[in-house]
Formats: sequence, structure tokens, C-alpha cells
Amino acid sequence: MVFKIKKFYITTPLYYLNNKPHIGTAYATISADVIARWHRINNEKVFFLTGTDEHGEKVKRAADEKGQNVKEFVDNLSLEFKKTWDYLNISYDDFIRTTENRHKEIVKKFIEIVEKNGDIYKGKYEGKYCIGCENYKTDSELIDGKCSDHKKSPEIRKEDTYFFRLSKYQNKILDFYKNNPDFLSPNQANEIKNRVKEGLKDVSITRINVDWGIPFPSDKNHVIYVWFDALINYVSALGDKNCSKFKDFWPADLHIIGKEINWFHSVLWPAILFSIGIEPPKKIYVNGWLLSENNKISKSLGNIINPIDIANKYSVDSLRYYLIKETPFGLDGNFSENKLIQRINGELVSDLGNLVYRAFSLIEKFDGEIKGEPSENLENQIKIISENMEKLQLSYALQNIWKIIRNTNKYINEKEPWKLSGENLGNVLYNLVERIRIIAILLSPFIPKTSEEIFNQLGLKPQKINECKMGEFKGKIKKGSYLFNKID
Ligand SMILES: [Zn+2]
Repeated sequence: MVFKIKKFYITTPLYYLNNKPHIGTAYATISADVIARWHRINNEKVFFLTGTDEHGEKVKRAADEKGQNVKEFVDNLSLEFKKTWDYLNISYDDFIRTTENRHKEIVKKFIEIVEKNGDIYKGKYEGKYCIGCENYKTDSELIDGKCSDHKKSPEIRKEDTYFFRLSKYQNKILDFYKNNPDFLSPNQANEIKNRVKEGLKDVSITRINVDWGIPFPSDKNHVIYVWFDALINYVSALGDKNCSKFKDFWPADLHIIGKEINWFHSVLWPAILFSIGIEPPKKIYVNGWLLSENNKISKSLGNIINPIDIANKYSVDSLRYYLIKETPFGLDGNFSENKLIQRINGELVSDLGNLVYRAFSLIEKFDGEIKGEPSENLENQIKIISENMEKLQLSYALQNIWKIIRNTNKYINEKEPWKLSGENLGNVLYNLVERIRIIAILLSPFIPKTSEEIFNQLGLKPQKINECKMGEFKGKIKKGSYLFNKID
């Protein structure tokens, strides 16, 4: 029998470099990290990609505003993203920048294929352009003549451009949606389908008189439109179609994206891939926007929260836990420092930290054998948590892990092990350590440092999902200090 290890390829949004990383981008990246780590502890072969989208007029303007050379500007900002993800313990396998040669080469190659297929033609574009969106806007998309996201009037532009025949792919895209019902992000699926049914217009895919971008191979007066360029990162990070990484991991299993870029991923991206002759990704998932104390996070409101500041103040795992637990994945959420403190003091200190400290204190005083019979089988609960994760219900998965933690605290209160001795005590302690071991496995994608620390105190190496059954305890307890400290 031939065993084939399941593969899993997941991507974060490719972050656009007109801004520093903030709590919203951290939330998207941590969510992707939790999912990637979950698939790893399920023994899958995982490729987790993040990176930065560095071309486009908006980036050029942001650099100009700061009086910086654009290359220097993107180098610094890209590094800031990388540092932030490293600090937040993001386990990415690759970080791609769209200004790298490995990316530019593949974009050029692909655009030549698209052109050869007759899907590119020269024309004139006249329209209303929002630089904030890096996109032309139709009148129906404007509110009082302004872009609804950027609250600015678009610029009127009339220029030569090359078009991509998106209209040609309308039926193919609709068929693709029909045959792949999981492809579109569920909350936005109908909206996207209806827009495609209304008809697709060809899209302008080059810009003239802009020098910050990848040159359009057959007309050097043009650079490739930033969106056509950026989407290809998901493939260029794997290399060419002939590369082993491409063969191992494509099609991507999950693109996590923001709402504002859903159209590009759900419509333009499959069409580009159809034209190149590459299978589209399997699933697009829109994660929600994070508000800050109920306000939209934006530069103009001056309420950008640096995730490193928060993680520094409360710990990386506290931030990770709070962000994932607070908001059902896919819905809009709200960042509140008070709520964060409540969750630390309640769930992390009183429930989890207390459980581990209490249990290991009892064990340290006990000199008998830790063994016995499982008081409860956790298999059913682990199955439910696995289903939550498959459905991307990250906050529900945490809720269900917390049920096990709270039940285990309840188990201590009911058994009153401080009144027991000998075999009876050994049996209660056995149930405690085995449950804590399973809890540590289940928590490892969410709060990896804490999980490692619990394994350390258990005297064991980190384990995987297939070890989530009550077995024979083989570790040696070395109780440490509290996992989390109460915040006043
Ligand atoms: Zn806009």
C-alpha cells in the first residue's frame, strides 16, 4: 500500500506596503498561522506563505510623501512585516516580496503565455481611478462620487493600456463555482456570483508612465498592473510549473484574504490561471475587519495599534489567544484592551494556568506511581474540535478546548485529591496529567509557547494529534512557575 502524505498550502493576504503592520494584519496572519500549525500536528506536509506586495502607485506615493527612495522604503517596510511576524511566532515557510527576481521572472513568463493565448489586447481606458484601491471604479461603486472605502473622489484618467479578456472567462468562472462549491468564501459567495452573472468587463492590466512596477514585456512604456503582478506570488513562491515545490503544493488549499481584495481573488485570479493553464486554488476565505474600540483602524484616525506593543505588554500568546477567541473567524471583530485583560485574567490565568499549577503541585508532593484508569474518554470532544478546525471555526475550537480545561478543574474539585492517598491519589493524578498533556497538544497551534512550556513541565517533547488519547503517562513532572500572570 502506498501512503501519500496529505499536503496543505495556505497563504496570508500579501500585505500591501503603504502601511506598517497593525493589529488587523496581525489578526489575519495569526489566524493563518493557527491553521498551518493545526495541519502540521495532523502530520500533513504544510507550506505556509506570507509576504509583501510592493509595486503600485500607492506605494510610490507613500514613499514620495516621506521623501524616501521607493526601493529603500519597501526594503524597510517589508523588514518590519517580517520582524513583526517573527516576534508573533508566525511559523511561515516562505516570505515572498514581489520586488524579488524570482517573482518578477515568473510574472513576465506568465504574461507572455496569456498574451500568446490572445487574452491581451491594446486599448484606451477612460475612467475614474481610486489610487487607494489601485482600481478603476464604476459609478455604481461610488457614494456621492467618492470611493466608499477611501472617502476620496477618484481621479479621471484616460490613457493607453493593455486589457486582459476577463469577459471571455465569465461562463468558465461560473462553471468553476458550480463545480467547486467550497471555493468562494461563504459569507460573500452570493454577492460574487451575482456580480459575475451580471457580466464581466475586460480589465486594464498595464499602466503607462509609471516606473515603479514590472515592465510589460512586449511594450516597455507600460508596467504591469499591481494586481496582475501580485496575485501571481502564490505561484511564484513555489517556482515554475516544473519545480518540485509547485508539483508538491499547487493548487493552494486556502487563501486567507481581506474583504477589500475578494473580487481580485475570487474572479480575476481564477481567470488569470485559466488563461495560463494552471488549476485555480481550492478555497478563498475572507477574514473580517478588526475595529479598534469600535472604530475602524486607519491612519487618518490615528488609532493604529502596533501588535508588537501589545504582545510586549501582555505576552505573544495572550495576544494570539485573545484575537482568535474574541472573534468568530470570518466576521468583523473589535480590539479592546480591557477585553484582552479580562480574557487573560479569566481564561488564561484562572482556568489554564491554575489547572497546570495546581495539578503539578499535587504531583510534586506525591511519591507513588501515577497510573490508573481514564475517568473519561476525550475522543468525542477531540473529534468535535477537529471538525471545528476543518470548518475554520477557530474560536469555537478554542471554546471546546476550554470545556476540557474547565471540566478538568471541576474534576480536581470533585475528587479532592488532597484528601486521597496511595493508589486512589495515583489514579486521580494520572487523569490530570494525561488530560493536561492532551490539552497541551490541542493548544499548540493557538498558543505555541505556552504549549511548549507545558510539555517542558511534563518532561515530554511536544506531541501531535495522533497522540491525543489517554495512554500511559511517561513523563517526569518538573513544575514551573505560573503560565500566565494576573493583570491588575
Ligand atoms: Zn478606494
